Amino acid sequence: MTSKMLEVKDVSFSYGPIQVLNKINFHVDKGEIVALLGANGAGKTTMLKNISGLLKPSSGQIFFQDENITPFEAEKIVEKRLILVPEHRQIFSTLSVLDNLYLGAYHHYARMGKREVNRDIEKVFQLFPILKDRKAQLGGTLSGGQQQMLAIARAIMARPNLLLLDEPSLGLAPLIVKEVLQYVKQLRDDFDVTVLLIEQNVSASLKIADRGYVMSHGSIIKEGNSKELLTDPEIKEAFLGHTVV
Ligand code: ATP
Repeated sequence: MTSKMLEVKDVSFSYGPIQVLNKINFHVDKGEIVALLGANGAGKTTMLKNISGLLKPSSGQIFFQDENITPFEAEKIVEKRLILVPEHRQIFSTLSVLDNLYLGAYHHYARMGKREVNRDIEKVFQLFPILKDRKAQLGGTLSGGQQQMLAIARAIMARPNLLLLDEPSLGLAPLIVKEVLQYVKQLRDDFDVTVLLIEQNVSASLKIADRGYVMSHGSIIKEGNSKELLTDPEIKEAFLGHTVV
C-alpha cells in the first residue's frame, strides 16, 4: 500500500483554445498539508476543478488512493471522500448553521443515521466553538471568517479523506486568515484529513503546510518543503513582498 493520497500525472486542460494547465505533475501523501501556490490566474482553481471532476483534463490522469478517478463524475468523486471547499465559500446563506452541517453529511446520512451524524456535529463544534454558539443563526448572517469556518466544517461532515481548499483566506482580514489557517492545521490532526490548499497568500499558507508547489501560467515552476520555499530568494521576490500576513 503506497502512502500516496493524490497523484496528478501530466494533466493538461484548455478552456476552448486557451490552454490553462500544461502537463501538471504533483502528489499529496496521506496526512500531509500541501500548498499549491501562485498568482491570480496561474490555473490553481482550474486544477482543483479537474481533481474534483467538475472539469475534465484534455490529457493526463488523476489518481486518488491509487485509483484512476479521471473518468469519474464529480458526484462519484465526492462519494470516494474527496471533497472540495470552493472559492467564495458557497454556504447556504438562508439555512441555519446546523442545517448547513446536516447537508454536508448528505451522502452518508441514510447509511449512518442521525445519531452518528450528530456525533460528527459535536466533534465539529469542538473544533469550531463559535459555530456551536451560532448554530441557529442563518449562514448568510455570519462574518466572513465564520462563513469560511462553516464551509470547512460542512466539508468535514462528509468525512473527507482528502480536502481541497480553494483560497480559504480570500477576503479575510490578516488576523482572521491566521486563525482560519490554524484551524486547517488542527483539523488535519483531529480528523485525520489530508489537505491540498490553494492560496495566493504564500507566506501564511507555507507556515501551516508541509510542502508546496508554485504554479505560474499553467505550469509548476517550483516545489519543495515549506521551509525551503519560505526562504527561497525567487519566491521571496515574487510573492513574499506583498503578502498580507
Ligand atoms: P484565481 O486566484 O484568480 O482563482 P487561479 O490561479 O485559480 O487564479 P484560474 O481561476 O484557474 O486561476 O484561471 C486560470 C486562467 O483560466 C485564467 O487566465 C482565467 O482567466 C482562465 N479561466 C478561468 N475560468 C475560465 C472560463 N470559465 N473560461 C475561460 N477561461 C477561464
